[in-house]
Amino acid sequence: MAQLGLTTAQAAQRLVEIGPNALPRPKPPSIVAVFLRQFLSPLIYILLAAAAVSLALGEPRDALFIAVVLLINGVVGTAQEHSADKAAAALSKMEQPDATVIRDGAQQRIEARSVVPGDIVLLEAGGRVPADLELVEASDLQCDESLLTGESLPVRKRAMHECADDEAHNRLCRAYAGTVVNRGRGRGVVVATGAASEFGRIARELNRKSVSRPPLLIRLERFSRLIALAVGVAVALLVAVGLLRGMPLSELFMMSVGLAVSAIPEGLPVAISVALAIGMRRMAKANVIVRKMPAVESLGSCTMIATDKTGTLTMNELVVTDIRLPDGTALSCDVGPDVDRCAIHTADTTDEEARTRVSALLRAAALPNEAQLAREAKGWSGTGDTVDIALLAAAHKGGTVVHEVRQRYPLVARIPYEPDLRYAASFHRHEDRIRVFVKGAPETLIAMCDHVDVRGSVSPIQREVLLQQKEALAAQGLRVLAFAEGTIGAEPDEVYGHGHLVNLTFLGLAGMQDPVRPEVPDAIRECYNAGIEIAMVTGDDPVTASAIATEAGIRFSAEQVVTGGQVRQAEQLGEKALDDLTRHARIYARVSPEQKLAIVMSLARAGHFIAVTGDGVNDAPALKHAHVGVAMGRKGTEVAKESADIVIADDNFASIVSGIREGRVAYANIRKVIFMLVSTGAAEVTLFMLAIPLGLPMPLLPVQLLWLNLVTNGIQDVALAAEHAEGDELSYPPRKPQEPIFDRVMIRRIGYSTLVMGAGGFVTFYWMLKHGYPEEEARNLLLLLFVLFENVQTFNSRSERQSVLRLGFFSNPMLVVSVLAAQALHMAAMYIPGLSEAVHLIPVSLNAWISLALVAMTLTMVMELDKGCTRSGRQRARHGDAPVM
Ligand code: ADP
Ligand code: MG
Repeated sequence: MAQLGLTTAQAAQRLVEIGPNALPRPKPPSIVAVFLRQFLSPLIYILLAAAAVSLALGEPRDALFIAVVLLINGVVGTAQEHSADKAAAALSKMEQPDATVIRDGAQQRIEARSVVPGDIVLLEAGGRVPADLELVEASDLQCDESLLTGESLPVRKRAMHECADDEAHNRLCRAYAGTVVNRGRGRGVVVATGAASEFGRIARELNRKSVSRPPLLIRLERFSRLIALAVGVAVALLVAVGLLRGMPLSELFMMSVGLAVSAIPEGLPVAISVALAIGMRRMAKANVIVRKMPAVESLGSCTMIATDKTGTLTMNELVVTDIRLPDGTALSCDVGPDVDRCAIHTADTTDEEARTRVSALLRAAALPNEAQLAREAKGWSGTGDTVDIALLAAAHKGGTVVHEVRQRYPLVARIPYEPDLRYAASFHRHEDRIRVFVKGAPETLIAMCDHVDVRGSVSPIQREVLLQQKEALAAQGLRVLAFAEGTIGAEPDEVYGHGHLVNLTFLGLAGMQDPVRPEVPDAIRECYNAGIEIAMVTGDDPVTASAIATEAGIRFSAEQVVTGGQVRQAEQLGEKALDDLTRHARIYARVSPEQKLAIVMSLARAGHFIAVTGDGVNDAPALKHAHVGVAMGRKGTEVAKESADIVIADDNFASIVSGIREGRVAYANIRKVIFMLVSTGAAEVTLFMLAIPLGLPMPLLPVQLLWLNLVTNGIQDVALAAEHAEGDELSYPPRKPQEPIFDRVMIRRIGYSTLVMGAGGFVTFYWMLKHGYPEEEARNLLLLLFVLFENVQTFNSRSERQSVLRLGFFSNPMLVVSVLAAQALHMAAMYIPGLSEAVHLIPVSLNAWISLALVAMTLTMVMELDKGCTRSGRQRARHGDAPVM
């Protein structure tokens, strides 16, 4: 039967016959393609040229060495890129769309992939249509079909039986795969899936791949070009000096190549991708699913979170606790989870009159209600909107048998709940007439009513009194809903709408409790410590919002609570008025989703870097335009998730804060890698800039520079990208979005360490030559010194603020392993025939090794001194005697 849908067995069989409801995916690049891609870089071309030159000059060993280094580089790059791709693929698997279908007579959520022709699909605002449907039912249904037609205005849909038989009309009674439900509800039978759908037909044209590159990476590529230029100038200078000194051309060429390789941080792009991929994985563990890689970094720099109330700060487990009848009679509900054993009490339980009126109220709660409450083996379980579920549970506790009422009042039409309406209504046939029931925000309903029914006699509505009753409930942090009913004459065409909601009877109020999530107050305190402001943006009542905000620990004063009405007024006065309003406001209540965008834009104009949360279709623009759009994984609609940068799997505010922490860690790690690579590269260039003009021989051979940069450095940098949180990530204010990577601290430290390594290396080399070491041996020792410098610097780079001694030596085991591996590889190379000759390595004595290690340690001492000065400077600033900036 059409009402019951397919059986599970039928659906499974069709799935086998017809195939999954998905378009064939473009294949990921093969591993060979990824490997070949590693060689597409100017630096590699230079190295290939160098290999060719060596070969031409009769140095096949150098050529071979360069080839081997390039090969190793390619393999390591491929492995890293492959693992980053795998992480991204795993994440995209986590966000498979779902569909709601009716199978075996029951509503179920299944993967959109397994929808088959003949399935009955339910549509709801905010979802994507999973397959091409013929609509059986459509209430207030509107779809955005711009994907197919390019037409941006939403299309009003109708049910099949309302459709005439021509082509144009026919389209109105179908919903198409991939289009978005903007509004309303619908139900339809699947006629085509996957490649057979309209969308499947045009999909090939749409199959453009969008590769979003992190802005950080783009900025760094620009920076690399700058470095390349600087290196070019430095090398040109050295070559000029070398020519004057009569160095052979071939030697000069190889030296230039070696220096270029030293100065250009070629490992950086890979290390950044790895840092972001690791950040992504750690965030996923904290329930933060990153949809766009750059969001890892941007989340760490947000200065304000504009958050929802329901479900994000609160548990979204609503329970009706209080009922107020218009005459002020107060009833309370048991809040226990066992709906069967709960009841609704009046202070005076014998009041039969109150009982009948509560029944009327509960009927108006149960009829315009789209949730289902079902008794299962484990107890009661609800599906649908949590407000609706809570109302059904209350109706049950009050003795209303919901399915009986639904039978007695056959449904004629419905105005489904949408956040911008703030109410839901349903029209039912009852004894020749049409009865209408409404539930929704008190202000909205009070305006629709003109009388109340007090003890059997009709009396005019006293709006002030009712609003006061609402305030009293809201002040307890309860979400308040009102209920109304009315009778109207039947319309000949059976079309009912908003216009029929006048002169209704006001039935009373219900207060619902939604406890604040226990982890939220701590998370909010952490935000304040981390210099992040919190604003609440909600569709709920200002009094309720304030009560919940206070409980959650949001800091605000009474003047900082504004309503959607005030926002609208300010908007009409112009941008400046709105900016003045948002500058101080912290609680935005009774805001419509469209206003969220205006608020976010205004806060961004004020210089905030904003993360905003959202769940509905109407939240999509705000999610798109905010610096970081955060969609709710559970409550959120498909459209909201698609518009967001990150999705919070558990809807929990505290997860956003964990995400911010991981974002800051990822950015800090990138800085660590940059510091390590740039400082060691600059040191090598400095070494040459001192040695060549002063008439010393080349301090390191070109192959040795390649060894240093492409082999040993390549092992160390990636390990830095995996550093863990240092623990103080949420104790300092967010960095300014426009702050350059090379800030004052970074530049100063690069300066100091370049001085120690470059000048220190030069002095050591000079001293050895003066004391009669042969050139070959002096170079060998200098190379070992630089490997040691790099290893020491890797440890120095682990923290910008903390002493390396306080970090816990083994907290990043990969780093220890990589440093030991680099060191071991270098020592081993001294003994490996072929390799030792290629890199010109000679075994060193333990004594020499220890002396050089001691020289290398001076670098740590200098870095520790600088960190110490910065720390005490910061402390002084905190105690208030720092100079005013
Ligand atoms: P929040 O920002 O807390 O999520 P919403 O935008 O969901 O607020 O709700 C705004 C208002 O709409 C609520 O205060 C309530 O009055 C009304 N409302 C919410 N859910 C429903 C519903 N299912 N039926 C009728 N009215 C509702
Ligand atoms: Mg809501």
